[in-house]
Amino acid sequence: MDRQHNPKVAIVGAGLTGLTAAFYLLKSGIDTHIFEKTGRAGGVIKTNFENGFTFELGPNTGIIGHPEVMELIDDLKGSCKLEIADAAAKARWIWKAGKWELLPSGLIDGIKTPLFTFPDKLRLLGEPFLKPGTNPNETLKELVLRRMGKSFLDYAVDPFILGIYSGDPAKLVTKYALPKLYMLEQDYGSFIGGSIKKAYRAKTGRDKKATREIFSVKGGLQNLINAIEKNIDKENISFNCDALFFEKTENGFKTNNHNKIFSHVISTVGAYELPKLFPFAETEKIDLVNRLEYTKLVQVTLGFKEWKGIELNAFGGLVPSKENRNILGVLFLSSFLKNRAPKNGALLSVFMGGARNTEILELSDNQIIDIVKVEITEMMKLVKFEPDLLQISRYHYAIPQYGIESEQKIKAIEELGKIHANLILAGNICNGIGMADRIKQGKNIAAQITGTKI
Ligand SMILES: Cc1cc2nc3c(=O)[nH]c(=O)nc-3n(C[C@H](O)[C@H](O)[C@H](O)COP(=O)(O)OP(=O)(O)OC[C@H]3O[C@@H](n4cnc5c(N)ncnc54)[C@H](O)[C@@H]3O)c2cc1C
Repeated sequence: MDRQHNPKVAIVGAGLTGLTAAFYLLKSGIDTHIFEKTGRAGGVIKTNFENGFTFELGPNTGIIGHPEVMELIDDLKGSCKLEIADAAAKARWIWKAGKWELLPSGLIDGIKTPLFTFPDKLRLLGEPFLKPGTNPNETLKELVLRRMGKSFLDYAVDPFILGIYSGDPAKLVTKYALPKLYMLEQDYGSFIGGSIKKAYRAKTGRDKKATREIFSVKGGLQNLINAIEKNIDKENISFNCDALFFEKTENGFKTNNHNKIFSHVISTVGAYELPKLFPFAETEKIDLVNRLEYTKLVQVTLGFKEWKGIELNAFGGLVPSKENRNILGVLFLSSFLKNRAPKNGALLSVFMGGARNTEILELSDNQIIDIVKVEITEMMKLVKFEPDLLQISRYHYAIPQYGIESEQKIKAIEELGKIHANLILAGNICNGIGMADRIKQGKNIAAQITGTKI
């Protein structure tokens, strides 16, 4: 077998990353096979329908942060339709001292907001004149304290990071967790100056596709998965591959699940699965990847056929750690996505656990419901907590936390790819956790293997 010119690719995992990579490889005529542990495609993406509500059990929305999102939708040629969030999604609320405050998005709101202290607002005027940091392993907390001040950490960055990573700014390393923010400081010397300069920088046609709008897919994210899966012949996916592992052969890789020899293996699974999948890999290197930590998360979906709480004209509300509440935040999905709840009703998604409560999965369903009842009744000013839909989803390995181990982890991934040529360790263990990052990575890997621009 000519490993470079006639590749045969095995992909582990039929989540968004694995499906995107397979879609582009097969489109380029490359022999590709996906091995999936469960009986379905989509990984953490799963849409449910119940009682007039359309809701997600995993991610709810993504950000069009890379052009690859729009390119994938175009390449799927109408088999699923992107849904861009309504304007209401531009507003974000932050819980402070017993009420919701609007997160400011402009200068005037920024001056007036009670979220940040007056000295910190004044200090922000000097932000463009501060020197850029020199420590590539600086945490987000250190970075924000250095450039912005404590109230920005407590009432903007902490809740924002809970919203994305369900994580702790004191543990996440900016360079890996928020690379665009890191590069803003490195390239332009300032967040404020850099954002302004970037906004006026000439963009290529391709750059313009990354609109940063919030997206879902009409009828739910599962329709994106179904559309990709429809483009992959059934014979190219094996489901229920429990206890999968790979061995090395003279010409490539062989699995216990298939008789073909593969020239390339792309893993898209969690770090904790790697030792079993690749027993031949050097333990000390796999251990470095495996140091990656994950948050534990509970998502409680609430549906109300008749909404009687406060007006939900925002993306959602985030609850800073400093407020000592028992939820991380709540999304108001029916306020900005169509047909998610009956008319006059509401669909909410409440998040609990994360870095703030690492014991969350030990709570029983009833304990979780009791907490949600207390928090949502007060925060949404409900007279009665009587949802028509209540669904609890638990995640043991929800979101990987790109912390201090990141530099060594990435080096180990690269070294393993060199020692075992064409072993590609991917998925959200590196290159970003968002759905847009997953699509970008899947497409890039396919391009790397085909050796052409896809
Ligand atoms: C609760 C939650 C909320 C989120 N919210 C958002 C959000 O709002 N916006 C956003 O952009 N992102 C969000 N994310 C992150 C985003 O959803 C994920 O990063 C992304 O979907 C992961 O896709 P993936 O294909 O890399 O991994 P996965 O979806 O995890 O897919 C991996 C696949 O590999 C399979 N697998 C695992 N082990 C093996 C094995 N040994 N052999 C074979 N197959 C195996 C799994 O069954 C799975 O199908 C959220 C994630 C979670 C959990």
